[in-house]
Amino acid sequence: MKKPLIEMKNVSFQYEYTQVLKNISLRVEEGDFLALLGQNGSGKSTLLKLILGLLKPMTGEIELFGENANHFKHREWIGYVSQKSNAFNSGFPATVQEVVKSGLAKKTGLFKSLPKNADELVYHALADVGMESFAKRNIGQLSGGQQQRVFIARALVAQPKLLILDEPTVGIDHENVQAFYDMLAHLNVQHQITMILVTHDVDIVSDRISHVACLNQTIHFHGYKNDFDTISQEQIDAWYGHSVRKIH
Ligand code: ADP
Repeated sequence: MKKPLIEMKNVSFQYEYTQVLKNISLRVEEGDFLALLGQNGSGKSTLLKLILGLLKPMTGEIELFGENANHFKHREWIGYVSQKSNAFNSGFPATVQEVVKSGLAKKTGLFKSLPKNADELVYHALADVGMESFAKRNIGQLSGGQQQRVFIARALVAQPKLLILDEPTVGIDHENVQAFYDMLAHLNVQHQITMILVTHDVDIVSDRISHVACLNQTIHFHGYKNDFDTISQEQIDAWYGHSVRKIH
């Protein structure tokens, strides 16, 4: 059996008055490429915050890499790229390599000095996302898609085992989305980085993912992508209370 990197058992969460997640059980194993689907307000960001340790479950348990999340020490094993990270304006005073280098703090600790091979690590992380020739450019002068690749490099430089991406293609031109997902698939297959991808691009990403989870307060489905393909459109619409496009 493959190693579980995330194991949520009957997790529930509510903000002051709003119940957001109910009895969530979810297991993500080493090597999975999971697409997390759900309309706005279905609890996706809250679920990610629980995994990242930014929120604590009201009930239930979370294990990360086989350890209770409350005692988990290796936060650098989990990389996170938010949908808002690619929003630098052209005047932002940092180069691409400086942005990526700042990701090393996660590995070394904020006040420790950088490793001797920091520049090499930065170069490799940029090469992994096809952005090495942009190292000296100002981050604000890059397109949305290029900025997002740089932020993935910033996460990669800490050498994570799991990468969580929250709608990373928001702000990427339509014609570049395919290439962006090719790059994620490469990281998943060649670098064996487990992926959790929050996305609405269900059709486009369909060939790259291994698993699907459908969230709307509870997990309505979690399983292999091929099994998801056999579920009827009517069933999916019923989970979400309105029409949601299915993977073709
Ligand atoms: P998604 O990421 O799927 O859009 P969220 O997890 O952001 O969903 O939000 C789920 C629900 O929780 C929404 O109804 C949202 O309004 C509510 N919510 C999110 N964050 C907070 C917060 N900090 N305080 C109160 N309610 C919140």
